[in-house]
Amino acid sequence: AVKRTPLIAGNWKLNLDHLQAIAFVQKLHWKLEEGNHDYADAEVAVFPPFTDLRSVQTLAAADKYSLAYGAQDLSAHDSGAYTGEISGAFLAALDAKYVLIGHSERREYHHETDELIAEKVAAAHRHGIVPIICVGETADDLEKHGASAVPVAQLRTALGGAKKGSEVVVAYEPVWAIGSGQAATAEQAQQVAEALRAVVAEELGAEAGESTRILYGGSVKSGNIAGFLREKDVDGALVGGASLVVDEFAAIVRFKS
Ligand code: PEP
Repeated sequence: AVKRTPLIAGNWKLNLDHLQAIAFVQKLHWKLEEGNHDYADAEVAVFPPFTDLRSVQTLAAADKYSLAYGAQDLSAHDSGAYTGEISGAFLAALDAKYVLIGHSERREYHHETDELIAEKVAAAHRHGIVPIICVGETADDLEKHGASAVPVAQLRTALGGAKKGSEVVVAYEPVWAIGSGQAATAEQAQQVAEALRAVVAEELGAEAGESTRILYGGSVKSGNIAGFLREKDVDGALVGGASLVVDEFAAIVRFKS
């Protein structure tokens, strides 16, 4: 079986301006370096607001900062009359490795559809950025259709925008678990992750099915991360609230110890 490097991704949402971001990333780096830990076991990525990315780039480019970063969204368009939008080209120019696409807050507050999300996945791949495609069911969906049906359908449409051979990451985030303090169980996460991996294999081929990382998100903390990572189809976490507390985020990154 292929080895999938766990990815621990911190979604800052609408928190931390660029000065706070500089302080945070420096502290995180020091914390992760403590005790000669070189954060080799897991890949660590942060997702700050757009206005912080230039500052984070400068820090990450400094010697030994093995920290990846990305944006929380991007435009489906590359340039033109789209006031307020940020293109994949601009993100690539800042060396952003990843971009979150279709987070449930974008779906809910900005009415993002699965079709638009597929266009955004295509935009990320046009610029060599790895899309982290966020899917997940609401409490209502869970009751009506079970856990897998909605995320599976969301992912299938989103992958319609993916370029064959280009990397994608999938984040399974049950909407009812986000920011609620009520995480899914590891078994629930595994069940849906397995179904999502099958969709990746169907849409992008068996090899992609094997190599694609599937993250769990929704009230992840240092106290529950190890359980998720023990599941065979869960390859990391997308962390919201707990990613804003340096010690807690560092403890999540060091899930093995
Ligand atoms: C998120 O918004 O992606 C998330 C998982 O949030 P939280 O960890 O706060 O539940």
